[in-house]
Amino acid sequence: MQTLSILKPDSVAKSNIGAIISRFESNGLSIAAMKMLHMDEAQAGEFYAIHRERSFFNDLIHFMTSGPVVVMVLEGDNAVEKNRALMGATDPKKAEVGTIRADFADNIDANAVHGSDSEENAKIEINFFFSKNEIVNAA
Ligand code: ADP
Ligand code: MG
Repeated sequence: MQTLSILKPDSVAKSNIGAIISRFESNGLSIAAMKMLHMDEAQAGEFYAIHRERSFFNDLIHFMTSGPVVVMVLEGDNAVEKNRALMGATDPKKAEVGTIRADFADNIDANAVHGSDSEENAKIEINFFFSKNEIVNAA
């Protein structure tokens, strides 16, 4: 199974790329695709279109376009659920000890990582950032 992960601008700015990728690799998630990019407002708005009506939408887009991100396809058994468990709760104050957000996130805006929340959304989000020939067989 595959899922989409984004290391958000705070993770890149704080040089936490390697430490966070290590969490994935040491927990059975392999990297099947990876790139760095700096999203513009249109791209971030389209990616987060599901949140367009939420009060935090403008803050979310502002933050996600504030610097470069690392976008990855992670592959492994139960990749969607496993990644969500490794990430921890959206609000780092509520994230379990030892999770990525508990260890690397500052607040609910700068919360270190994005992860797909369902297999269906994982497919949509992977297609949003990657073409087929950019994804390798990581198994
Ligand atoms: P998750 O990233 O855990 O899947 P959501 O999909 O609900 O969380 O929200 C997307 C992103 O929007 C979150 O990661 C967070 O950065 C931001 N966000 C969510 N809820 C809030 C909130 N109540 N206030 C501010 N930002 C929020
Ligand atoms: Mg989400």
